[in-house]
Amino acid sequence: MDPLTRKLALNMPLTLGAALSGIATPDSLRGGPEVADLDYALPGARSAIVFGVPFDDSFIDPYLGKKNCDLSTNKIRITTFAAGIAFEISTVLASLGYRTYPIAPNFEFRKDSPNGIYNRVPPASLKLIAVSCGIGCIGQSGLLITKKYGAALSLGGVITDAVLEPTEPLPESENYCDRCMLCKAACVADFIERDEVSINMGGRSVRVGNCRPAARCAYPCGGITGLHPDGKWSTWSPGRFPLPEKDEEYRTISKKYVGRYLERKRNGAVCYNPLLAGTYEMQYTCSNCQFVCHPDPEVRKKRLSMLRNSGAVIEDSDGNRTAVSPEEAEKYVSELPSERRRLYSD
Ligand code: SF4
Ligand code: SF4
Repeated sequence: MDPLTRKLALNMPLTLGAALSGIATPDSLRGGPEVADLDYALPGARSAIVFGVPFDDSFIDPYLGKKNCDLSTNKIRITTFAAGIAFEISTVLASLGYRTYPIAPNFEFRKDSPNGIYNRVPPASLKLIAVSCGIGCIGQSGLLITKKYGAALSLGGVITDAVLEPTEPLPESENYCDRCMLCKAACVADFIERDEVSINMGGRSVRVGNCRPAARCAYPCGGITGLHPDGKWSTWSPGRFPLPEKDEEYRTISKKYVGRYLERKRNGAVCYNPLLAGTYEMQYTCSNCQFVCHPDPEVRKKRLSMLRNSGAVIEDSDGNRTAVSPEEAEKYVSELPSERRRLYSD
């Protein structure tokens, strides 16, 4: 008898601390984009075990309301935990004689893209694999959304040559995204488009959201800048650098300001991003699209309002960040000595 049964494959992530699990196969991903091809990461792949680990919901309101950014720490810890689950399952399956490829939840990029890792193409899309096996659907934000946890979860997975029967995808009628566009309203970089886009995958049509190039999100999401163009509110970044309209300017602008970002003291938890040449240390300062998108539309509205009325973030000389009114923030930064002001503003 095959040692890895379907039941065991679905239970392993749950026992180790995930909340949702599923199984995809090349057939359930058939016809999808190149990042849905399991063979790229593991030639001869027969299945993928994928799972979701939710973030701590109690940290979301204080984060969006700028009381504290403990959610950022929680996001780093949970994402690292999801990577650990994938590694543990992969290790056990490899010991049983299967070939495996644990998929990193974040920051793993193909090196053979035209701009190498800077194209930010993952070896396999955990999001598409998760959709194909019924863990959730995709919202207009382009994020995986689930009825219980919204978009507030980290995905992980293991590609393997074990033959496993797939779990069923959810019907599109289960997709709670009503295109409220509150994720777009929560985004300082105007990353999310309004048009609806679908792809064919696994013999069915799948809604996939509609977003502009990833570099547009990465510049504020990683913390380089954060002040909304209207000047009235910010992410958890104290940066006030420009947010260009044209997509093609984003790579250049990130390069221009990344050095100043890395010079900031930036107290708080960090993760490691290979795109941040220098210290590689990154803090999540945004993820607003992710955390506004609660399954209940009323909670979404409340969260967006909290965010947009939370003021703008400033950073003191020890790297501590606090939110103050937009007027106070502007005055604070304009009165900084020039060698400190350049870390936040032109
Ligand atoms: S915030 Fe609204 S539009 Fe955006 S993904 Fe969530 S439900 Fe869809
Ligand atoms: S993480 Fe922030 S910058 Fe990136 S798309 Fe979401 S809201 Fe916009």
